[in-house]
Amino acid sequence: MIYHHIAINVPLAGGLLTYSHPEALPAGTRVAVPFTNKTVAGIVWQSGVTPTVDTRKILPVHTVFAHEAPLPESWRRLLEFTARYYHYPLGQAVAAALPQGLKEIRPAAQPEPPQFYTLNATGRQQTAPPAHHRKKQALWQALQSGSPAMPALKQLHPQAPKLVETWAAQGWISRHSAAAPVLQPSEHHLNPDQQAAAAAVSAASGSFRPFLLYGITGSGKTEVYFDVMAKVLAAGQQVLFLLPEINLTPQLLKRVQARFADVPTAVLHSQTAAGARTQDYLRARLGQAKLIIGTRLAVFTPLPDLGLIVVDEEHDTSFKQENELRYHARDLAVWRAQQAACPIILGSATPSLESWHKAHSGAYMLLELSRRAHTAAQLPQVQILDIRRLKLDNGFSTPALKLLHDNFRQGGLSLVYLNRRGFAPALFCSDCGHTFGCPRCSAKMVLHQRARQLRCHHCDYRQAIPRQCPDCGNQDLTAVGHGTQRVEETLRQALPQARIERVDRDSTANKNDWANLYRRISEHSIDILVGTQMLAKGHDFARLNLVLVLNADGSLYSADFRAPERLFAELMQVSGRAGRAESAGRVLIQTQLPDHPVFAAVQMQDYRRFADEALAERRLFAMPPYGFQAAIRADAPDIGTALQFLHDIKAEVAEQLPDTVSQMGPAPMLMVRLAERERAQLFLESPDRRALHQAVAQWLRLLQHHSHHKVRWSVDIDPQEV
Ligand code: ADP
Ligand code: ZN
Repeated sequence: MIYHHIAINVPLAGGLLTYSHPEALPAGTRVAVPFTNKTVAGIVWQSGVTPTVDTRKILPVHTVFAHEAPLPESWRRLLEFTARYYHYPLGQAVAAALPQGLKEIRPAAQPEPPQFYTLNATGRQQTAPPAHHRKKQALWQALQSGSPAMPALKQLHPQAPKLVETWAAQGWISRHSAAAPVLQPSEHHLNPDQQAAAAAVSAASGSFRPFLLYGITGSGKTEVYFDVMAKVLAAGQQVLFLLPEINLTPQLLKRVQARFADVPTAVLHSQTAAGARTQDYLRARLGQAKLIIGTRLAVFTPLPDLGLIVVDEEHDTSFKQENELRYHARDLAVWRAQQAACPIILGSATPSLESWHKAHSGAYMLLELSRRAHTAAQLPQVQILDIRRLKLDNGFSTPALKLLHDNFRQGGLSLVYLNRRGFAPALFCSDCGHTFGCPRCSAKMVLHQRARQLRCHHCDYRQAIPRQCPDCGNQDLTAVGHGTQRVEETLRQALPQARIERVDRDSTANKNDWANLYRRISEHSIDILVGTQMLAKGHDFARLNLVLVLNADGSLYSADFRAPERLFAELMQVSGRAGRAESAGRVLIQTQLPDHPVFAAVQMQDYRRFADEALAERRLFAMPPYGFQAAIRADAPDIGTALQFLHDIKAEVAEQLPDTVSQMGPAPMLMVRLAERERAQLFLESPDRRALHQAVAQWLRLLQHHSHHKVRWSVDIDPQEV
């Protein structure tokens, strides 16, 4: 008998269980094994181990999925690192990293070897489908200009398999099993900044080198990625392209697919259907897919020929997973690049302060694109409007409404943008700017219109809505934090002729919704867009020339030390939407905190200024990136139980805590209640990463030891939430 360590999806600290099998199984092989009274899927981690338990108690492996290619060693090392760094059981980390099809106890269908299709000589003599059959024509053109594989064709037309079959039956199409990628040349001649950036990355090929590509929206970062990607793909290597959850829009995909139509591509994100995701995962693992585009979960794709990683919008918060395995895909991507000895590009107009800091300490190489690439495009004109003494009509100031009105008259496209991140409806005095804090804790009170109450979401203190401002006696107290719906109503009344379109999660749930939206915008059938951060990112609305930001400061009232960083990124991003094309854009930001440094930096469109100030402050308080953090969270039906649980362990840990680590809290979380449970957390902080991880390990031992039936707990390394 040969004994094997096998990773299965159970919350065991070590993460591996021992099973027997008559023969040695290659590491990475998928198996089914008995566990308690079930059969579960697992991955062989090590073969030929010496058992530490009585061998008579070791159960045999149930089934070996021998025809599946084992998960490669580089992938297993990645998962080991992930489990260790995030203090998460290995078996559960493995489960989080696998697509559904590889977690089941039946064999996974192996992908067909790729087939490539081209329009042959006979096909080229036929007339192309007419222009009004857009998708069909796109398909035809792709077959004419290269030799794409089916997944790429399906992206162009959902009926591609059928159409290609029909055309093949006519004798217009030839098939082949290997395609030397024929890359479309760039539409543009890269400008000197872009050339320098692309050359620096290409020169690093074959070695680990992280680059921070910093350039305002529209400065041509995507073209730099494409240039470097083309070289890596032409050399037959794989490229991993990570982008934020919200950014996976048809627009960017279309652009990538247009440029890399011949490259077998896998698209991996949370909305991909389970079956397709498994297939794409396996195609990547087998080296059949060369370009892997996806959101954070794609960072776990096994890639045998990895030659380049791109993380677009690297500052985006959606790269951090906020439940179960709380990993940061950008950070893991850097680890992977090091492992694979390949360059990685982190791109952003507003880099995370962590990456900016690394670019200045020399850990990353800074590449800068200093101008907008499109020569005609100009920087937007940003105006900060102090609304403290202005009368507001449902959140709109008179100057703002006038701008909207004028722009509508002139046939422009406007965007009314609501910043709602970390933001609950609140009451404030429109005269002196007074806001209502809880008398019992530091939190701001949340306005509950229907109950006519202000409530504290930390301690549950409640009071009736006050009639006047306690500071200045003004009786005109204003509600901030309007939902998009009310904003839309107000606009409809103020501009009855304008065609207004609300864009939110619901209105863009469907895959085709964005495409429809773009079409209607280009057809001039929308005058005003209303929406939240969904609209800020990655969208290029050619006609947009006015952006109005309502209640910009909501999150600045919060206790989150990252709030200014996020607000800055969001405002830069949304103002970057204005004037991307020929017309210079205008941006008007309404705020009650006009003196906050964030706004001065946005007005000057000056990330450096913002980053340097923010980093100086972080340094002063030894906050990240100058210190490291871990959060220990506990939730229970009531906050008292959760707090007590953490207090008890804190006291025990304190006895052996290294000097360099401090324990802050426990305190209730900003959003205390979630899904009928109340949440508390404690922060471990240290300038010494290793000492911090030792303290976390100590916490973990005690957390496991102190288990309490009412309390659930979790550990969050490098937490992003407060
Ligand atoms: P970013 O990714 O930084 O937002 P993009 O790469 O999307 O910027 O470029 C912005 C716009 O400028 C796009 O329309 C793109 O086609 C165009 N563009 C990029 N590089 C060039 C160039 N060298 N010459 C002309 N236009 C360019
Ligand atoms: Zn309170």
